[in-house]
Amino acid sequence: MIVVMQRGATPEQIEHVIERLREAGYREQVSTGEERTVIGVIGTGIPADLGERLEMLPGVEATHRLTKPYKLASRDFKPVRTVVQVGDLSIGSDEFVVMAGPCSVESREQVLQTARAAKAAGARVLRGGAYKPRTSPYSFQGLGEEGLEYLAEARAETGLPIITEVLDTADVPLVAKYTDILQLGTRNMQNFALLRAVGNLDMPVMLKRGMSATIEEWLMAAEYILHGGNKQVILCERGIRTFETAARNTLDLSAIPIVKKLSHLPVVADPSHGTGKWYLVPPMALAAAAVGADGLLIRDGALAEPVREVTVASTFQRMLLDLEVGNDLQWLSGGAAGITILVPEMTMSGS
Ligand code: PEP
Ligand code: MN
Repeated sequence: MIVVMQRGATPEQIEHVIERLREAGYREQVSTGEERTVIGVIGTGIPADLGERLEMLPGVEATHRLTKPYKLASRDFKPVRTVVQVGDLSIGSDEFVVMAGPCSVESREQVLQTARAAKAAGARVLRGGAYKPRTSPYSFQGLGEEGLEYLAEARAETGLPIITEVLDTADVPLVAKYTDILQLGTRNMQNFALLRAVGNLDMPVMLKRGMSATIEEWLMAAEYILHGGNKQVILCERGIRTFETAARNTLDLSAIPIVKKLSHLPVVADPSHGTGKWYLVPPMALAAAAVGADGLLIRDGALAEPVREVTVASTFQRMLLDLEVGNDLQWLSGGAAGITILVPEMTMSGS
């Protein structure tokens, strides 16, 4: 349930409503908008007459029962957008935040080099997996804590905060000790034990959309984290499975404005995993920015391979430059003044 205060309701009237809610055994979340304040009521078993009783209090305009299955994640509950603070970065505000780095942490040199390249190209967060969710048990599973140490070293050198994935509840304390943002991957979107574990923390979590999850299921997964008390949730659209095979996944860009309408949480796009092809990353990154994404997660895995190093780094650099100067229309219309794509097609392997 939400309590909508009248325009111009006084701080005392707002405080009075909060006191009454607490007396009745509920908690509250106050959203102070430009025009009015909305108080979200947190708790279960809300009696049928609570709304009417609250509406009699001074300064209350109306109460509404929320019909969506997710509450804390919904914009009805909290009309003002959530801004997740990571050091001096504000994810979900008007800044556009690019997170970039290798798919997996493979060596100290690779991470340091990629971190420098990512920083030089304008990235604000360094990504890299030390624990990798692999389809095959024979694939490289990640360096574990050693990888986290390399990421921390790269952060110390470049000043870039880090984001890295946690796969297992048992690893949450260790990964949380090293990272600035915990990443929950597509394969774990409905790992409820893991959602609960990160919900108990007080640090940023990026929740990727399950590859076969509906938007409602994705928001319900976010609800688990919020319900645990952790409000610092960032969503990430990373492509879903459809019948289409031309790209590795179908990056569901329409999900971004839909989620922004339904929820107050920041949303970033991952066009790398979302398409699986390098030539699609720059145009889809620009398109994501155009539809309102709060940032990007870009995988620069091929940087470790010397032959591709220059070309991939340059594509990434050009892409950021383009975002900065707002050349998106040229890009999207494929106009002659558009940017040359330096890597015609590079299929990315692994996850
Ligand atoms: C990743 O970001 O490295 C990753 C494994 O992504 P996803 O969970 O989206 O496949
Ligand atoms: Mn990956």
